[in-house]
Amino acid sequence: MELGDGRRFRGRGALVTGGSSGIGLGAARRLVAEGAAVLVVGRTPEKVAAAERELRALAQAAWAGSGGPVPAVAGRVADVTDPAAMERAAADAEALAGGLHVLVAAAGIDGEGKDALALDPETFARVMDVNVRGLLLASQATARRMTAGGGSIVLVASVNAFQTETGFADYNASKGAAVLLARSLALDLAPRGIRVNAVCPGYVRTPMTEAYLADPAMLAGILGHIPLGRVASPDEIAATIAFLASPEASYITGSSVIIDGGRSA
Ligand code: NAD
Repeated sequence: MELGDGRRFRGRGALVTGGSSGIGLGAARRLVAEGAAVLVVGRTPEKVAAAERELRALAQAAWAGSGGPVPAVAGRVADVTDPAAMERAAADAEALAGGLHVLVAAAGIDGEGKDALALDPETFARVMDVNVRGLLLASQATARRMTAGGGSIVLVASVNAFQTETGFADYNASKGAAVLLARSLALDLAPRGIRVNAVCPGYVRTPMTEAYLADPAMLAGILGHIPLGRVASPDEIAATIAFLASPEASYITGSSVIIDGGRSA
């Protein structure tokens, strides 16, 4: 997919949780390529450092010689379930760009992969904590800083919010909650001019799914339910995230966009 051909985020500031890997990194690449200053948050120091290096190089390649400044990029190791850490990350993102306009909340974890009756209650609580409460904390920390001119928040949910998968009660429930959180935040933040939407991907090739997709029998089962006959790339999800985050989506709030190759059609 062509990057750097748009200018939709010139002079904008963005925070991307889960920006060190998979869908979040894809979104961060697109935001930087289109001019945003981006701060990525992830859990693993090496992955955050690698993402920071990659995004800085991308910013240089896309913007050096453009006549304007090269977008700033930074990375932070933080846990999205830690309110103080999320406040610090949002403050740093605001300082990086001189304003905060976009949140992409892509940090998330997989379910335990067990029948509902076998689920460990502690693991269930952790999945809900990261996949739901983590979205709220990131949204609170950024929305407080999105003042003049409003902003846009994109929560990464899943098509599992609408079409559940067997053996993933924890993950399914967390993604259903993520969609209703996006809709609720859309109502509460509309008076501040902040739009909130969710993206609901089907299977995307990322570190989260690589074990499933590497198993030929599992891959065949997955592809058998996807009319387009393939899984998505992170860039295909990032394109929709960037659209929702941009002024092109100025009248879209409280929506959940399914991006699943037709799986739930
Ligand atoms: P990934 O494992 O590649 O990336 C997850 C990111 O979240 C990493 O950057 C990781 O550091 C971060 N993260 C996880 N827990 C964190 C925590 N407590 N604090 C801070 N950061 C944390 O996975 P991915 O596939 O890119 O998933 C991103 C989002 O997309 C998740 O919410 C996932 O549920 C959702 N999703 C993925 C798929 C798919 O098929 N890959 C499909 C639908 C939805």
